[in-house]
Amino acid sequence: MAATNGSIFGAMLQEFDGAARILNLEPGIWKILTHPKRQITVSCPIQMDNGEIEVFTGYRVQYNITLGPAKGGIRYHPGVTLDEVTALAAWMTWKCAVAHIPFGGGKGGVICDPTKMSKREIEALTRRYVAEIVDAIGPEKDVPAPDVNTNAQIMAWVMDTYSMHVGHTTTSVVTGKPVELGGSLGRREATGRGLMIATRESARHVGFDIKGATVAIQGFGNVGSVSADLLMREAGAIIVGVVDWKGGVFNAKGLDVPKLIEYAQQHHTVDGFPGADPLNCENLFKLDVDVLIPAALENQITMDNAPAIRAKVIIEGANGPTTPDANRHLHDRGVFIVPDILANSSGVTTSYFEWVQDRYGYFWTEKEVNERLEAKMCEAFGAVLQTSLKYKVDMRTAAYIVAINRVAIVTRMRGMYA
Ligand code: NAD
Repeated sequence: MAATNGSIFGAMLQEFDGAARILNLEPGIWKILTHPKRQITVSCPIQMDNGEIEVFTGYRVQYNITLGPAKGGIRYHPGVTLDEVTALAAWMTWKCAVAHIPFGGGKGGVICDPTKMSKREIEALTRRYVAEIVDAIGPEKDVPAPDVNTNAQIMAWVMDTYSMHVGHTTTSVVTGKPVELGGSLGRREATGRGLMIATRESARHVGFDIKGATVAIQGFGNVGSVSADLLMREAGAIIVGVVDWKGGVFNAKGLDVPKLIEYAQQHHTVDGFPGADPLNCENLFKLDVDVLIPAALENQITMDNAPAIRAKVIIEGANGPTTPDANRHLHDRGVFIVPDILANSSGVTTSYFEWVQDRYGYFWTEKEVNERLEAKMCEAFGAVLQTSLKYKVDMRTAAYIVAINRVAIVTRMRGMYA
């Protein structure tokens, strides 16, 4: 999402306002939903490997907990700011509400550069950060997850530190854990699987056959590679173009995705994959395909490249890949865009499944996880599509309308505590 006067939270408010106006949201609820419930700032002193003490600043924001515990990742990055963490926590609120799972929105961040830290230093920082916010998190309060530069191992340390503080093992305090430690089967593939479902449902709505449909994908990490694989193997689509940070490949007859995944694992890029022509990002966007999936970074589809886009459907795997003006331009041209808060919501839906399984102490098979995910994703897609048709708005505005309305209804029902 593009920043407004440099504020990412300002950009979130812009998207909120558009939908809230259509909903005729009353001023009181409007005010509540545009203020973070709680912003926590902590200082985390760590003894570094060279013996010196460094103090790292960390944040945890619980934007809204009306529907349930806050849910959202923890990112480790030198550029983390409270404004960014607050905006991301707000977006998690809307994403969980669209996905129709009983969670509010939260996000955490620590200002650090993990690429310059040892494993021991990262573990020490994680444990101290969790100790500093330990009273604010918990299965009923706030359930963190991985985000930029954090992973399953770091989530295991989060779970262990919290468990040490409360005196008993509490797996459901965090999601994205290793499967051996209460993680869910199917979590790794969940976001890509949701993208495949969103693509299939979009094709049905727009009126083309997903079997044999052509797809171009920007980014071939977790989200891009899994959605490519499932679109090919389970939906029968043809993946003709893929680009990543280094380069890209094109084959009009379709790329062999399992082989491309193997190649990318070995070479850390798809660039140079045999049996395909080279492709760059600029040309990927110009391809005459049915579906375009941005699954890399934010702000990739802008007014510089949007006029050349020929895809009928855009499925936003990444968060915020389309700028607001490019979104308007594409919508006006009749391109069907499935927004990030809907398209990539299967990640958090499966985190919800992980939390449910941990609380039950009873674990589902991968087939059960996938079946439930299919049902939740189709439900969410259907609700947003119906809203878009009812209000005659694009899918992004419709997703916000669904989300804001769900939180607003419960806010009214719960009433004021004062
Ligand atoms: P990842 O790090 O596994 O993969 C990112 C991919 O983007 C890599 O292939 C990388 O080479 C490529 N890339 C980086 N810079 C690029 C550039 N300039 N041009 C083209 N490609 C570039 O990340 P991921 O987990 O696949 O996440 C991708 C996006 O999806 C992010 O925006 C993330 O926030 C979002 N997302 C991920 C999940 C999830 O469950 N993993 C859930 C929701 C949203």
